[in-house]
Amino acid sequence: MTKYIGLYFIPLFFLACQSNVFDQMLRNDQELHKPQPGEWRFEHKENSQSLHDFRQSNFIRPDSKRKNIDLIPIGTFTLNDAQQLSLCCEYLSIFYQIPCRLSTVISDTAIPTKNRRIGTDHQIQLLAPFILDSVLLPQLDSHAFCSMAITTQDLFPKPEWNYVFGLASFTNRVSVSSIYRFRDQPALNQIDNVCLLRLLKTASHETGHMVGLHHCQHAHCVMNGSNSLQELDQIFCRLCSDCLQKLNSNIPLKIEERNIQLLQFFRKNHLETPIQELIPDSIAFAN
Ligand SMILES: [Zn+2]
Ligand SMILES: [Zn+2]
Repeated sequence: MTKYIGLYFIPLFFLACQSNVFDQMLRNDQELHKPQPGEWRFEHKENSQSLHDFRQSNFIRPDSKRKNIDLIPIGTFTLNDAQQLSLCCEYLSIFYQIPCRLSTVISDTAIPTKNRRIGTDHQIQLLAPFILDSVLLPQLDSHAFCSMAITTQDLFPKPEWNYVFGLASFTNRVSVSSIYRFRDQPALNQIDNVCLLRLLKTASHETGHMVGLHHCQHAHCVMNGSNSLQELDQIFCRLCSDCLQKLNSNIPLKIEERNIQLLQFFRKNHLETPIQELIPDSIAFAN
């Protein structure tokens, strides 16, 4: 009988510590403002997702077999683009605490002429659904939990649309995002931190959907929806306590260690705004 005591004691102790961590984080969650016309929450009336809802949803989640995030570059990448992609992969592996694998570049000639067009700024635009269905899905690796294409080319979802930032099929666990409109400066001889931050937010947000997280209504959070680049720039990199708790119920996370690693990543890459978002949590964990 005695030997079973430990089995019950440890999980209860572990759960108590974990909930304490989320309670500490909850105090650092920042309240959302009233949505304004044009903003995501004004234009899309979405229901909030509880922890219970999240646990009940039947999303395929990372497990011992499907444990990688695959990042697939499509298009022509400068040295700096490639560096940003490599940083994005490093970031996702810290953010989700599962391995991220960066694949070799796929040329955009893999998208046939009938599935591309020339946009109003004379730029090449690729048909996003074709990339999901005919490029990513056929080569979805059995060890990949999800496959995310990042392209330097502009995207469009259907002929009547001007462009789209990205497109995803959450049930098929594939998505494509474009950095074409993320770039802040045309001179690409140094890392464009505005572009990098937009890429990190978009990639972590889309992966969040892949694990079953809905748009966050709870606080400022990377899972907030965005309707424009301007709104994307205001979104936090931080996952709020509510979304992190959901994620943790799916992928057990070492919350404090993760926070330290994220801070190290942002400091190393001189990304000041997300550092300010995470410091209150690290102070709370230390006390
Ligand atoms: Zn979203
Ligand atoms: Zn959230």
